[in-house]
Amino acid sequence: MAKTKIVILGAGYAGLRTLKQVQKEHLDAEITIVNKNEYHYEATYLHEVASGANPPEKISFPIMSVVDQKQTNFIQDTVVMVNKDEKTVELAKNGTIEFDYLVFALGFESESFGITGVDEFALPMVDIPTAVKVREHMHAQFAKYNETKDETLLSIVVCGAGFTSIEYLGELTQQMPKLVKEYNLPADKISITCIEAMPTLLPMFVEKLSTYGIQKLKDRGVKFLVGTPIKEVTPEAVVYQENDELKEVKAKTIVWTTGVKGSSLVGKSGFEERRGRVMVAEDLTAPGYPTIFIIGDCSAVMDKTCDRPFPTTAQIALKQADNVAKNLAAKIKNQPIVPFTFKSQGSVCSIGNNEAIGEVMGHNLKGYPASMMKKVIENKSLMTTGGMKVMFEKGRFDLYH
Ligand code: NAD
Repeated sequence: MAKTKIVILGAGYAGLRTLKQVQKEHLDAEITIVNKNEYHYEATYLHEVASGANPPEKISFPIMSVVDQKQTNFIQDTVVMVNKDEKTVELAKNGTIEFDYLVFALGFESESFGITGVDEFALPMVDIPTAVKVREHMHAQFAKYNETKDETLLSIVVCGAGFTSIEYLGELTQQMPKLVKEYNLPADKISITCIEAMPTLLPMFVEKLSTYGIQKLKDRGVKFLVGTPIKEVTPEAVVYQENDELKEVKAKTIVWTTGVKGSSLVGKSGFEERRGRVMVAEDLTAPGYPTIFIIGDCSAVMDKTCDRPFPTTAQIALKQADNVAKNLAAKIKNQPIVPFTFKSQGSVCSIGNNEAIGEVMGHNLKGYPASMMKKVIENKSLMTTGGMKVMFEKGRFDLYH
């Protein structure tokens, strides 16, 4: 009898962890993982690459270090479309592949909310190339300043004040003294502004923690505009609304971190979705498609405590992957599935390399202990997916820069 064909699309947190766990099941199956790049990157560290705190190699590792070649075939290619009824996947270079079970884990894209000028003039930070571009663009503006003395070249606007933005600001402000020296810049003319639509900053934390984190950034020179939705981005400025008035901050580096949506391939493949996310069944399959699992940023799972989907985080993606590996095995062996349940263990937001704020299993942490906790959590995750070698090479053991 032909072996069951399992195809995993995407080698981000969700896809790669699924592969790791499903290989442990030693199923009588032929596993294929498809990913655009030959590497996996830790999306929660992109801000380090964008700020220049770490090179791309530090936050990525080869997919082959997780692949067990006796069970799994890795195809480096771009997914064009999933034909959910025909049970096939179209790839850009390798034609069409068939599946019996599919794990759709194609991750996230930047969300522009249709705001004019975002796609043309703002810099998203969603993968390694875009994070590198943020760093290179800012460096190019600093280099130009010495020729032109145009002060907008020293102005950086970070759009939105979610975790991605705050973590980027944390690293950027720690890197700035080095950059000022490198480019011989007037430190007092550097301007960093963060513009947030909502009236409260970091509302997921108790006030004491969010105030602590925001004050750290203010002390390092960040100006926050709050309750001021961005309405337009131009080549030279970010336009926002304050009360009924439109105002602008001039800047030549505009970083777009106002949130993300699931892969556009979700909609293109005909799944019912909202912002690229499918409301999945209790076994994480797409409604009506019991052999197609959708996980990570392309999925939505309802948090019954507040009647809203859980936010898309690495934590939930990894838990979903563990569950999918079990349920794949259960389905192949005709055993009962284990419904997915999730209780967040909390979250930690870094404010540079050695400071953070966070709530972990009901405990509020700030400063250095929170930063250490974040590193411990992330090292554990690297160990589980990548193994010991990857953890030692890519993990965080540095206490200070
Ligand atoms: P987000 O959606 O969490 O934050 C985006 C912010 O931009 C929000 O505060 C939103 O109000 C603001 N915004 C949206 N439109 C705006 C506009 N027009 N003008 C001004 N502000 C606007 O997005 P994110 O920070 O990219 O995070 C995505 C997900 O990843 C979240 O669930 C987050 O918790 C998670 N994440 C977690 C970590 C961590 O655990 N350390 C790190 C990064 C991201």
